[in-house]
Amino acid sequence: MERTTVALKRYEASPDSLRELVQLCDGFSGLQPDLDVLIKPNLVALDDRHPMSLYGVFTTTRLVHDMVILLKEYGVERITIGEGSVRVKGYGVSTHRIYEYLGYPSLTKRYGVKLIDLLEGPFQKVDFGDCRLEVAQRALESDFLINMPVLKTHNQATLSLGLKNLKGCLSLKSRKFCHGSDGSLDHHLSRFVEKIIPALTVLDGIYGLERGPFVFGRAVRMNALIASRDPFSVDVVAAFLAGIDPSKVDHLREFAERHDRSLSLDAFDLRGTPFRELKKTLKWDNTWREDDTGPKAWDRIGVSGVSFPKYDKTLCTGCSGLYGPVMTLLMASYKGTPFDEIEILTGKTMKPSGKARKTFLLGNCMIKKNRKDPAAGQAVLVKGCPPSLEEVQKGMQACGFDASLDIYKMFRDSLMERYAGKAEFDETLFHFSA
Ligand code: SF4
Repeated sequence: MERTTVALKRYEASPDSLRELVQLCDGFSGLQPDLDVLIKPNLVALDDRHPMSLYGVFTTTRLVHDMVILLKEYGVERITIGEGSVRVKGYGVSTHRIYEYLGYPSLTKRYGVKLIDLLEGPFQKVDFGDCRLEVAQRALESDFLINMPVLKTHNQATLSLGLKNLKGCLSLKSRKFCHGSDGSLDHHLSRFVEKIIPALTVLDGIYGLERGPFVFGRAVRMNALIASRDPFSVDVVAAFLAGIDPSKVDHLREFAERHDRSLSLDAFDLRGTPFRELKKTLKWDNTWREDDTGPKAWDRIGVSGVSFPKYDKTLCTGCSGLYGPVMTLLMASYKGTPFDEIEILTGKTMKPSGKARKTFLLGNCMIKKNRKDPAAGQAVLVKGCPPSLEEVQKGMQACGFDASLDIYKMFRDSLMERYAGKAEFDETLFHFSA
């Protein structure tokens, strides 16, 4: 089988590094100046209540700006940037607010770039064989889609790269559907790219994120850019670059099996900066105790009397983002004595153990499934889809935890301090500059 071309480039200067990268993979092949180009970055969600580090979480604004410069040099007139950033009650802001925060309106002023929120629709129902998903029409109709994901690890999907970034083209309803109780998340992730087809994928690995996908992970400066006209190839090479075997990434393995594609690095014609010079192993997840009652790290501290099973793939992004706050509040209220036999259940399929005095049910799915289960302890209902932080705090207090959102705020502030004063963490890469 012919090897697909994948370009690798160390990020050194704007816009030259990206220019070279695109040339190396002939990335603008098929692009005509009169085509309608859509750029899809990853601006997953912005927390408007707490400081949030964007390293390894968002596509850098610098790289998006560089792409616009290259497209203008090429003579392209119609350039649109489209993203559908997650916001739920009490968390997150609209995609347009995020664009403003990052300075994207300057791209409109200077280059005439159009900014759209893919969540505003309209959506088209697309047949994926065993289900129909609502996909933003704009993503389907663009003449030349440029996908610009980030190099991040992901607690549920192992990696969140180009194939997964396309989930941001779906309606919120369809995104939730992909986290169904049958645990088919990876199956869906493997298929978006069959209907939403990028002409070019440029992976932004200026920062990689360990133990992602949220801000609780740790960013690493990698300065790695990867591009190809073949989206799958970018993800496989990015997995190797992050030290993760792509055959262990379920959605990549499933795509490879369905399309008879190789998951070996030898299957790609790598051009540009030598692979070994960019490679950096990223840690991808926290390990849990064998009996699944909490993270392994709790053994060292001696936490007992509480069971917090590991998130599964049925948990949507909204509820998944609450694992960090729950964990923080729980740890902050641990005073060295056992908790009062509490279990915390999440997602769509978890079942009470029959051993707990109180059963904390996070979100409407868990409430519906377990509130009347005789095996549940006294049920503490944390309502919402997903619940707000205030609901989480209230529920934890009802379980006897000394839960305080002020402590959570202090923890979030401390996460920011990890990057402060370090030259490699450069905030200006995320905010438009000339
Ligand atoms: S309650 Fe949570 S897991 Fe259930 S649909 Fe809502 S966000 Fe998803």
